[in-house]
Amino acid sequence: MTRITIAKGDGIGPEIMDATLSIIKAAGAQIEIDEIEVGEKVYLAGNTSGIAKEAWDIIRRNKVFLKAPITTPQGGGYKSLNVTTRKFLGLYANIRPCMSLHPFVKTKHPNMDIVIVRENEEDLYAGIEHQQTDEVVQCLKLISRPGCEKIVRYAFEYARQYGRKKVTCFTKDNIMKQTDGLFHKVFEEIAAEYPDIQNEHWIIDIGAAKMADTPEAFDVIVMPNLYGDVLSDVAAQIAGSVGLAGSANIGTECAMFEAIHGSAPRRAGQDMANPSGLLQGAIMMLNHIGQTEVAERVQNAWLKTIEDGVHTYDIYKEGVSKEKVGTSGFAEAVIARLGQKPEILHAVHYEKAHSIQLPKYTRKKPSKKDLVGLDVFVHWPGENPDELAQIMQQLNTPEVSLSMITNRGIKVWPEGFEETFCTDHWRCRFKPDNGGTLDKHMIVNILSAAVAKNIDTIKTENLYAFDGKPAYSLGQGQ
Ligand code: NAD
Repeated sequence: MTRITIAKGDGIGPEIMDATLSIIKAAGAQIEIDEIEVGEKVYLAGNTSGIAKEAWDIIRRNKVFLKAPITTPQGGGYKSLNVTTRKFLGLYANIRPCMSLHPFVKTKHPNMDIVIVRENEEDLYAGIEHQQTDEVVQCLKLISRPGCEKIVRYAFEYARQYGRKKVTCFTKDNIMKQTDGLFHKVFEEIAAEYPDIQNEHWIIDIGAAKMADTPEAFDVIVMPNLYGDVLSDVAAQIAGSVGLAGSANIGTECAMFEAIHGSAPRRAGQDMANPSGLLQGAIMMLNHIGQTEVAERVQNAWLKTIEDGVHTYDIYKEGVSKEKVGTSGFAEAVIARLGQKPEILHAVHYEKAHSIQLPKYTRKKPSKKDLVGLDVFVHWPGENPDELAQIMQQLNTPEVSLSMITNRGIKVWPEGFEETFCTDHWRCRFKPDNGGTLDKHMIVNILSAAVAKNIDTIKTENLYAFDGKPAYSLGQGQ
């Protein structure tokens, strides 16, 4: 018996939750349920996070959370409960299977069966943003080795547990050599530990195009947060089944399972909504808590129901569908088919397994880290980089001098192009004249000189070499 937390949410949430619970209980799920309140009512009662403190205590105690969609009220001040939950509970992996149900649900891709594994905690979603000049704002893209190791290892463990043959990695490391480069590098390292599973890497632009065109070429795809956010919606949509997909958010301690759609307020209370998305989330939950036989029974009965043409309004199609049902009618149809298997769609078989447990991250031996230069970012409203170079050269010291200026990454001094458009945000790179290392005091000297000369420095970035290898990007065109 596993104790889980549920939240019925808003809009169609309560109906699809009742339908989902009735199906999994009829299939023999060994669960005890604590229900909490989240969403619109909580928001409107003045709690801008959409969830009360006591509810967090229950979620953290039970560690397994099945959540129906919630309505985020329009207007400012409300925080997305999904984002907060992911971050608070350290749910580092987002898993979204996207499978077509051809010929029963319309799709251009009859043989699509992919699983998107999205990193869920870092990347541009750390939400560290600043305005630095009149014209320029920035968002920090943070990628960590532990973050990469966890998500990539999860993808390979998932592939092994679910009998998948290949894990593909999507990054843009031809451009972001440090951040996406680290993700790709860790992928290569970990892939080598799973010789039984094929691996490949695609640059995300052509990879995404290929996925949208020929999804059957892929199996499990792992990627950093932002790419995963975008492509998991694309994948669900082209499978033809946004309303049928579920997702799992997995952490070391806790996990949350849900449908990918929203609360569809216009359909609420009419016994019309399709409970399949939340049911798919619940099936992932049953696998996660080790009740794989129940998960298998439910999934096969659900596939048989779809195959028998028993459809809710959203997927009902004259000529293909046989019977139009509401939310509760659909649940009854699935329950009536428990124990049966689909004949045309592929029946599933889940190996007996427990939730994927990753080894604890062990910090690597520190590298030898040398300070080899300094980027000073300045707000300067001028236009001619040669003029800025003259201003910045006043900061040169006997050991360190200005070596390059870039604007939005492209080198504009020395030997820039007149055609290059420049904003008021400049990066001025200082390097030791002898190519050696820099003393931290030199940074202070450069910055105090900048203050004395009234130069508007907005930030600095230290340039390091790790184990003798430069670990920063060059200027474009350098
Ligand atoms: P939505 O997913 O609720 O609805 C989009 C369309 O799909 C609508 O036409 C709706 O009727 C239909 N639809 C969705 N689920 C369906 C189902 N199970 N059966 C049949 N039809 C279904 O998206 P929206 O209208 O943009 O958002 C509504 C609310 O949901 C918003 O407040 C939004 O913030 C919230 N939302 C919540 C979550 C979540 O809790 N995870 C996710 C997305 C949106």
